[in-house]
Amino acid sequence: MGCGGGDNVGTGSNITGLETSNAALIASLATLPVETISAAEQESLAFMREEEKLAHDVYFQLDGLWRGYTKVFGNIANSEASHTELVRQLLVRYSLPDPTATLAAGVFQNTALQTLYTQLVATGSVSLVDGLKVGAAIEEIDMIDINKALLGVDNQDITLVYQNLLKGSRNHLRSFVGNLASQGVTYVPRYMALADYLAIVNTPMER
Ligand code: MN
Ligand code: MN
Repeated sequence: MGCGGGDNVGTGSNITGLETSNAALIASLATLPVETISAAEQESLAFMREEEKLAHDVYFQLDGLWRGYTKVFGNIANSEASHTELVRQLLVRYSLPDPTATLAAGVFQNTALQTLYTQLVATGSVSLVDGLKVGAAIEEIDMIDINKALLGVDNQDITLVYQNLLKGSRNHLRSFVGNLASQGVTYVPRYMALADYLAIVNTPMER
């Protein structure tokens, strides 16, 4: 994970916090062909760029509130910065506009994501446990949306990045659920099927 700073985190393409694993993945991307990109793939990249930014921006806010109790929000915010950067790399590869290019932290072009951001920050600010539950819910939503997006994707580079985002989300879900357990709270999934949820939280962290 990156440093605990973040003065310039969350300001569009200046998002920092790249993990070393990103460099390897970006190198792998360079070995894959730039294929014809469909309209569905283009839409999905724009959405995913903003959805990963949303995760980052919510965790960055909650880290400001709850960092005295846990490092989980700060650590995972750094991971989300690397996720949204990976999607930006794909936008660059396909010469597509970056919807977040001029957006400040907490601001989104997609109105559904804007509404979701406001709700999640409000809910997650009530208590540490509420914040951790918001984290788990974000990861559920992200996995559902990435899996849905993957149905419309066949380009190898996009698939590689989305699979990496999914793996990150599985680990993040495990972290939030583990932190809730430490608080004496058993998390109940709100969006995913219970069997899918249990298959993740009952298996170890992935590298
Ligand atoms: Mn992510
Ligand atoms: Mn995540």
